[in-house]
Amino acid sequence: MNIVERVKDIADLVKKYNDQDLYERIVALREQILELREENMSLRENNEALSNAAAIQKKLVHYENNYFLKDDTERKHPYCTFCWDYEHKLISLQITSRENDGEIFTFCNICHSRAVKGT
Ligand SMILES: [Zn+2]
Repeated sequence: MNIVERVKDIADLVKKYNDQDLYERIVALREQILELREENMSLRENNEALSNAAAIQKKLVHYENNYFLKDDTERKHPYCTFCWDYEHKLISLQITSRENDGEIFTFCNICHSRAVKGT
């Protein structure tokens, strides 16, 4: 029996004694427990997201306005610096070249940032 079930159990018991004030206090307590449980879940999710982000951050190297994973020694798979720095989203970049001058650059399909390679 979890804490919410226990409080409901107590509320049901109190109801038998017909003490309206005590019953309302138990119901209010149950609502507070539910709110705290939701807040706890949210904090756990945030904590997990921050832990995951910290683990990824340790693996990133900043080079030519892009991020690369440290084990990508040939730097073939760039990630967007804006998306990572702002939202901790590791977004793969497209490597493309302009038709008129062949300049090679990376492009993010999420935030639309681009960086010329070699700058
Ligand atoms: Zn981006």
